[in-house]
Amino acid sequence: MTKKVKPGVVSGDDYKAVVAKAKAGKYALPAVNVVGTNSVNAVLEAAATAKSDVIIQLSNGGAVFYAGKAYPDSFEAGVLGAVAAAQHVHLLAERYGVCVVLHTDHANRKLLPWVDGLLSEGEKWYEKTGKPLYSSHMLDLSEEPLEENIETCAKFLERMNKIDMSIEIELGVTGGEEDGVGHDVDLSAENPKLYTQPEDVLMAYNRLSPIGDFSVAASFGNVHGVYKPGNVKLRPEILKASQKMVQEEANCENNPLNLVFHGGSGSEKSKITEAVGYGVFKMNIDTDTQFAFAKAVGSYVDETPRAFKHQLDPDSGKPYKKVYDPRKFLRVAEESLCSRLQEAFSDLNSVGTSAAL
Ligand SMILES: [Zn+2]
Repeated sequence: MTKKVKPGVVSGDDYKAVVAKAKAGKYALPAVNVVGTNSVNAVLEAAATAKSDVIIQLSNGGAVFYAGKAYPDSFEAGVLGAVAAAQHVHLLAERYGVCVVLHTDHANRKLLPWVDGLLSEGEKWYEKTGKPLYSSHMLDLSEEPLEENIETCAKFLERMNKIDMSIEIELGVTGGEEDGVGHDVDLSAENPKLYTQPEDVLMAYNRLSPIGDFSVAASFGNVHGVYKPGNVKLRPEILKASQKMVQEEANCENNPLNLVFHGGSGSEKSKITEAVGYGVFKMNIDTDTQFAFAKAVGSYVDETPRAFKHQLDPDSGKPYKKVYDPRKFLRVAEESLCSRLQEAFSDLNSVGTSAAL
């Protein structure tokens, strides 16, 4: 039904084919926040193992870290780190045999210069290779009045569309914060800001769809981070109303919107399945993969505490070089991240579905 896509970083029509295949097949792809080559490679390994396509994304903080936390100019570091990460993924993704969507996470008004900088780099890359550096960027202007949010996104999309890029916008508010970008918002179930309003989505659709490809981070009670059970009430049925309104008004096919589920960590499987049924093709996961990475390092240190205090065992004199070699604990961390992602691919129903197969 959908065309086979060449493995590697996808953009333009190939990106659209990957998204369309996911929606038609009622599955979604995990979008994993990465901070360095260890997390990037673990995500690629996980996707290849699951034979699923995957989304690799960087927040501004992740990009700064990628360039080096001590880099003297943090603005430059955000651009350079994101470019370095993208080049790493472009070079390797194809060899892993699956399609990879490269994306940047939440950029609020303050971070728009970062997206601008990345677009300049993306335009240069496009001139050289015929492809953009990133498949898509996210603008999160959900704190602003709706019209300003949509108008700014429209302006950026005009520029992105010229180099085969897509945009992700946010309507309604995802609770909590993601890497320093977030909202101090009342998390009680009655707060309407936590639930995307269908009229808002329709307005965005009418403005953006003539310009280019876009997706919507829609709020249905989702929150970044993991909390005590009962604190977060997910209501995926909210998404149905937006899909229905756009479908009727624009007279288009079922589930016309490409929806994004932020704050996927810690979510119940049944809610994930339900959200995917309403046109969610992307679920962000960060907190759970961070924990998987950290937990494995913690266990490794717990099992071999002496190697983290002494080069030679103080009693036997035995060298610990092979135990404290950073590759050892970084590898167990990668394996643990990879195995947490197998769970995500399975929850999202994407195992064995790569558009490159
Ligand atoms: Zn988010």
